[in-house]
Amino acid sequence: MKRSFPLTGISSVAVHTGHDHHPDHAHITPIYATSTFTFDSAEEGMARFAGSDKSKIYSRWGNPSFTVAEEIIAALESFGIANDDDTPLELKALLHASGQGAMTTLFLSTLQSGDTILTHYSLYGGTQELMQKILQPAGIKTTIIDMRDLNKVREAILADPSIRLVHLETPSNPTIRCVDIEAIAQIAREKNIKVSVDNTFATPYLQQPFLHGADFVFHSTTKFLNGHGTAIGGVLIGKDIEFMKTRAWKWHALLGANSNPFDAFLLTQGIKTLELRMERHCHNAMEVASYLYQHPAISQVNYNGLPSHPDFAVSAKQMKHPGALLSFELKEGMEAGKKFINQVQLCTRAVSLGTLDTLISHPASMSHFGLTSEERKAYGITDGLIRMSVGIENLADLLTDLEQALA
Ligand SMILES: *Cc1c(COP(=O)(O)O)cnc(C)c1O
Repeated sequence: MKRSFPLTGISSVAVHTGHDHHPDHAHITPIYATSTFTFDSAEEGMARFAGSDKSKIYSRWGNPSFTVAEEIIAALESFGIANDDDTPLELKALLHASGQGAMTTLFLSTLQSGDTILTHYSLYGGTQELMQKILQPAGIKTTIIDMRDLNKVREAILADPSIRLVHLETPSNPTIRCVDIEAIAQIAREKNIKVSVDNTFATPYLQQPFLHGADFVFHSTTKFLNGHGTAIGGVLIGKDIEFMKTRAWKWHALLGANSNPFDAFLLTQGIKTLELRMERHCHNAMEVASYLYQHPAISQVNYNGLPSHPDFAVSAKQMKHPGALLSFELKEGMEAGKKFINQVQLCTRAVSLGTLDTLISHPASMSHFGLTSEERKAYGITDGLIRMSVGIENLADLLTDLEQALA
């Protein structure tokens, strides 16, 4: 719909982007459960393939249910951002079957054998395994450094001309570490190195990496963007529109990493309430972190909204609120961790994050059980560490549950 005034907030953008003119006047974008799309004539088929007719051809290459989710996500990540010449930033998003699928498109479409990725510690496990088990044997190396030290970033880039991509994840698991996107992107730009940011924990409501110089943004839409825990999905967003429409699009289609209409529909419904949900998630997280911080059974709380967190300042600089993920350490270690997990009555025992309910997990006995105690330590996972994705429940009930479980 044409508007004579600009939108001032992302809820307006999220609920009014995409799906303008449905032929049957459907209000909500329907689930386009179709593998292929018809042509009325040979000429129409030709126009479709030539790109002058933008209608769809085959669902692995694109589907209207994906398009609406892609348009909303691109609009949110670019909201309020202008290019150097004051024109609004334009982005192109590609929806995928999963975060892992989108990450694979990102790495394989931007890199080739002989190239190196520069990244930091405590990446999402699947990202790290993708680098080790699939990229490395294919000749794409990964260098891992502590990117909170900008001198190390500079040194690493100067020392290795094969670095083609800097990949950041901020905030990241399990200690909610943050890195300075703007400062790192500036160093990378001097050497013409692209920067990608995994924005899954933050969402575009809390953090817009394109504002700080990123070239690509990635989300596991499984988490806060869907918000309801109803579907797996991923998205890759880029500002080089030509690259996104040609090479990235081609790679995603050839990998078969496309989304499906039902999951795309669920994502589109969920994302409309992103701002409302994030406000509540973040408010609860801050209160829960403050409560845990003063609790005698707890030795440490890792939450980037607490001034005691080492990355408090970086997080405050680039994020609207510190987010809804936190972790804390029980003084009594492994046994206390397991006991706490068994005692909760409201929080849900599950991995993943970003759902309406509060999710808790005990990495030492769950997601990272297969590692040795030494390896876990290297990841910052101590035996008594509990991770929480704070939900939108009423705060008093959450605090009551934590209090009885810690008693
Ligand atoms: C979940 C997650 C992924 C992987 O996404 P899937 O949707 O599970 O494939 C990548 N990065 C982060 C930060 C995640 O939380």
